[in-house]
Amino acid sequence: MAQKQFEIDGVGAVTIRKNRRNRHIKLTVDHAGKPKVSIPLWLPYAAGVQFALSKRDWLIETMQKSPSYLLSDGMAVGKAHKLYFLDYTGRTITSRISGGIVKVNLPDGIDAQSAEVQIAAEKACQRALKKEAEHLLPQRVDSVAREQGYDYKSIKIKRLKGRWGSCSRQKELIFNSYLMQLPWELIDYVIMHELAHTKFMSHGSDFWAEMNRVMPDTNLKKKLIKKYQPILMPTRYSSLNLE
Ligand SMILES: [Zn+2]
Repeated sequence: MAQKQFEIDGVGAVTIRKNRRNRHIKLTVDHAGKPKVSIPLWLPYAAGVQFALSKRDWLIETMQKSPSYLLSDGMAVGKAHKLYFLDYTGRTITSRISGGIVKVNLPDGIDAQSAEVQIAAEKACQRALKKEAEHLLPQRVDSVAREQGYDYKSIKIKRLKGRWGSCSRQKELIFNSYLMQLPWELIDYVIMHELAHTKFMSHGSDFWAEMNRVMPDTNLKKKLIKKYQPILMPTRYSSLNLE
């Protein structure tokens, strides 16, 4: 699809793209923090330049807030999946998970870095992580529980934002599907932690004594896990439309 680049002072290179899907001018800062203007086929490029110039302050502010990385082709997802972007002849963005591949299909003229594709890819990756977690975690929990003599009632896998796992008074365990993004030693730490809660509900000295007994490097792992967050990437993106 036809495109041109121009420079805006303090912003840098801006790409203007003509797109037959567009009925209006659209200004976007993609996941890589790059500004893009897409315009209808019938508009001159100058109209796109003019619009971007009129939104210079917004562009600078938005680019500063933008995350600097993207879900990219060939990226590993969890322990057993890889993400691929593929061009196809369909008209909408679709995704499919099979045989360890998370496949995102891109219609003609749609960029893998665009916010809509990145969001679709993120959702597909989240499904893959959940599938992996449901397949791998219950057997891991079961073997650790047997080895260390813990009892639990049930296991569920959920996508949680603020924590890696939980254990209720009824000994129902919940694990975060994003655990699959962590190294196994830290996954085991979380499993141990929740199982230890089946004996000691609160984080008292008896709880930590139990943890240190079954996992002598508990303190180190407690520090290491703080470097991780339950995310694939920040979900923030921005765009402005001119109606
Ligand atoms: Zn805890």
